[in-house]
Formats: sequence, structure tokens, C-alpha cells
Amino acid sequence: MSLAGCDVAIVGGGVAGLAAMRVLEERGIRTCVVEARSRIGGRVHTIRDPRVAHPIELGAEFVHGSAPELLAVARDAGLLLYAVEGERWRARGGRLTRLEDFWKRLHTVMRHLDAEQADRSFAEFLDDAPGGRHAADARVLARAFVEGFHAADPRRISVRYLADGGSPSEDARERRQLRIADGYDRVPEWLAHGFQDRILTQAVVERIEWGDDGVALSVRRGNVPSVTTIAARAAVITVPIGVLLAPADEPGAIAFAPHLPILDGVRSGLTMGAVVRVVVLFRERWWADHLRAVPRGASLESMVFLQGDAGDVPVWWSLYPMQAPVLIGWAGGPAGLRLAGRSSTEIQERALAALAANLGVTRRRVAAQVVACWTHDWQHDPFSRGAYSYALVGGAQSARRLARSIKGTLWFAGEAAEPEGRNGTVHGAIGSGRRAALSVTRALAQDARRS
Ligand SMILES: Cc1cc2nc3c(=O)[nH]c(=O)nc-3n(C[C@H](O)[C@H](O)[C@H](O)COP(=O)(O)OP(=O)(O)OC[C@H]3O[C@@H](n4cnc5c(N)ncnc54)[C@H](O)[C@@H]3O)c2cc1C
Repeated sequence: MSLAGCDVAIVGGGVAGLAAMRVLEERGIRTCVVEARSRIGGRVHTIRDPRVAHPIELGAEFVHGSAPELLAVARDAGLLLYAVEGERWRARGGRLTRLEDFWKRLHTVMRHLDAEQADRSFAEFLDDAPGGRHAADARVLARAFVEGFHAADPRRISVRYLADGGSPSEDARERRQLRIADGYDRVPEWLAHGFQDRILTQAVVERIEWGDDGVALSVRRGNVPSVTTIAARAAVITVPIGVLLAPADEPGAIAFAPHLPILDGVRSGLTMGAVVRVVVLFRERWWADHLRAVPRGASLESMVFLQGDAGDVPVWWSLYPMQAPVLIGWAGGPAGLRLAGRSSTEIQERALAALAANLGVTRRRVAAQVVACWTHDWQHDPFSRGAYSYALVGGAQSARRLARSIKGTLWFAGEAAEPEGRNGTVHGAIGSGRRAALSVTRALAQDARRS
């Protein structure tokens, strides 16, 4: 790729950056995408293994809710989506029971979230026993949902932020979950299609100098000691906020000159949630056999989701309705933080121990079935520094502020800059990239009219 003659520099080749690139290029605006890793896709990270017929997702896996931007990509790219449908189960004290009416029960608590009241943490909100005496168990589920789905610490996450789209309420379309049969990476691939020559990989942006009339990016490529400069009229910055807030001497960190006050607001208003996810390939779907912890006459054959209470990895799901012998373990929020940074062997050990405890079987029985195990430490990956963002108490407006252009030169995009409460998702990231690109297009058109 030629570094000369680029109108807009895009920092980050995840779905937000690629979506921004596509919008700009389709309008005749020349871009260059600068991506630190050797691959595009960022937190969409699919791998394939000949032993499993299904792709293995180490980052995003589901299409959550109505997700219009993503469904449009899927349609244009001809991707096959399938609905995640099956039984929800719960493990408590070594017993397994069907978890009926999960969304309805969650709603008995979440409907008390009020965006108009003074902000406080979700833990404080729960202390007031929303839903009353009969909702005690629903509150346990709500806490697990906020920790798992939002990857958040209930003592830190903002109630105002959660009130504004934090749970899918009663809308069945927003509760729906789909998977991309051929793998999530088909989405960034499609976004990049036709414009691969605009993307520079293994190129780490270290510094961005910006002013009224343009930007200059200092970029380190591979292991080359020298730094290349990319000049452009504007920049769209899509790196995760974990990277934006990283201390200056950390790998991946970006220094802004002059300093950007908006980043101080981001620091106090947003944070990265933690997730450790473990994908385990077994010899067979052994959990569908009779297990002693399952009530007589029932089985986990159609189990799609298991909310457990034991061990370090409390949440599990299968690929059902696909019949693959795969289970995915998920530790979100404080549980994710406790596991992150440990070796993959230790994470695997702890995950399998938790699975055995929740299903009421011996650790040996589980271990005998294991073929392979995959995990990715997003928390210590220098180019993500966490899983996805959530708003801290007092920070419900931070994403909106981050999404505003700075002096018509810098735009922030990416899941954390999604102003409609759809952060932490792929469709939110695509939407935010497009939004920034359209705003850049308008600003450049204004420039052209003036000159
Ligand atoms: C474990 C996990 C599970 C998830 N599950 C789901 C799910 O089921 N459904 C869903 O919708 N969402 C899910 N998400 C969230 C979703 O993956 C993200 O919201 C989305 O992919 C973010 O896209 P993005 O473009 O904003 O950021 P990213 O994908 O992080 O892209 C930013 C890019 O910037 C690059 N970069 C960083 N620093 C630099 C630098 N200094 N110089 C140059 N480049 C740099 C990175 O390498 C990266 O490619 C999940 C995320 C994780 C981690």
C-alpha cells in the first residue's frame, strides 16, 4: 500500500475501522487502515481446526438482537445465519434444573432500572431489592447476567447506562441470538473485500499529532526500528478504550499531541470489561447422556445454555442446535478478571473442574473426553486490553461524547464510541464506524466547498 495520498487514516482494522473504510472508499475518499496485528478483524477472531466441523470463535460469537448493520452485511455477503435455540439450564448446589422464562424473570428486576434517577452502581440498585421479596432469585440471575453479558463488575457499572438498553426487555427480536455458520470472520473479510490494498497490517500507531488542518501518524511496522509517518486530512480512531487509556510506555499505547481532554472523560466514564472464554472440543456430546444431577426423565440433549454456581467458570453453552461435541465456558466480569493472566493450561484445568462441579460428574470423566481446548487472553492482549466496554457510574454519556468529532480532524469510533447503548457488540461497532465515516464525508465536503 502506498502511504502517500491518503485522505483519511483509520487506526484499527476491526469491524469498526473496516466499516468506516468501506463507506469512505465507496464515496471516493482515499483511506489507509493501519492495523497493529498481522490479521484484520480485531475482537472478531475465528479459528478453524480440521477436527471440528464448526468454526471456533475466540472473540465475538453471537449476533445479538435485531443488529441491522450486521444483518445487512450477512445479506450482502450471502452468509448463512442460524438461530441459537434450545433449553436453558441452571446448576445449583450440584442439582440441575430447567431455567424457564429466563428473560421474563430477568425483566422483573431490570424493568426497575430508571435512567431518570441519580446514577449509582448496579450492586447498589440490587441492594434495594427491586422486584420485591418474590424476585430474590431473579436478582441472582440479574447479577449473573450483568457480570456475564456485560462483562462488568456490578459494583462499578452504571445503572443509567443499563437502563438505556442494558437488557433486551420484552422485545423478542432483541432477545434473539444468531450464529454465523461459516464463522464470524466472514464479516471483516467482506468489509475488507475489494479494498485490501488500503490495509497495512503489523503496523502499530504510536503517536498522533493533530491540528485544524490534518493529522500525522507515527507508525512502527513489524520489528523495523524506524518509524514511518502517515499524513492525512483526518483520522478515524477505532482502537479499544483499553488501548486508548494504556500508559504511554505500554506496547500499543498511542500518544496524542496535543493532549486530548476527551480521554480524561473516557477514563472516568468507561472501562473495559473482562472475559475469559474457553472452547473445549470433546470426543462426544457426553453431557447429553443421563447425568445423575439431571432430574429423572430429563436430559441435557437440547441444552443450549447453562448458568452454574460452582468454580471459576460458571457459565457454559453448547453449539446446539448443531450437534458438535463442543462446550464453551465463559467467565465474565469479576470472574473473568480473576482468571485472566493465568496460563492457558491453568485456565483449562479450572474450566474443566468448574464444568465437572456444575454437571455433578467427576473431573476424571470430563478430562477423559477432552480432545482440545482453546482460549485467548483479551485482557493481556496489548491491542485490546480487555473484552469490551461498559459505562461506570456517572459515565452513561461518555460514549456519546467520545463519538463527537474533534475539531473536524479526529473522530473516535469502535464499540466503545457507540452512542445508542449498543456498545460491546459487533453491530454497534460497525454502526459507529459508519457513523464516523459519514460525518468525515460531510466535513471533507464542507472543506471542498470552502476552498
Ligand atoms: C470474548 C469476546 C466475546 C464477544 N462476544 C460477542 C458476541 O457474541 N457478539 C457481539 O456482537 N460482540 C461480541 N464481542 C464484542 C465484539 O467483538 C466487539 O464489540 C467488536 O468486535 C469491536 O470491534 P471494534 O472494531 O470496535 O474493535 P476491535 O475489533 O478491537 O478493532 C480495533 C483494532 O485496533 C487495532 N489496534 C489496537 N491498537 C492499535 C495501535 N496502536 N495501532 C494500530 N492498530 C491498533 C487492534 O489490533 C484491532 O484490530 C465479544 C468480544 C470478546 C472479546
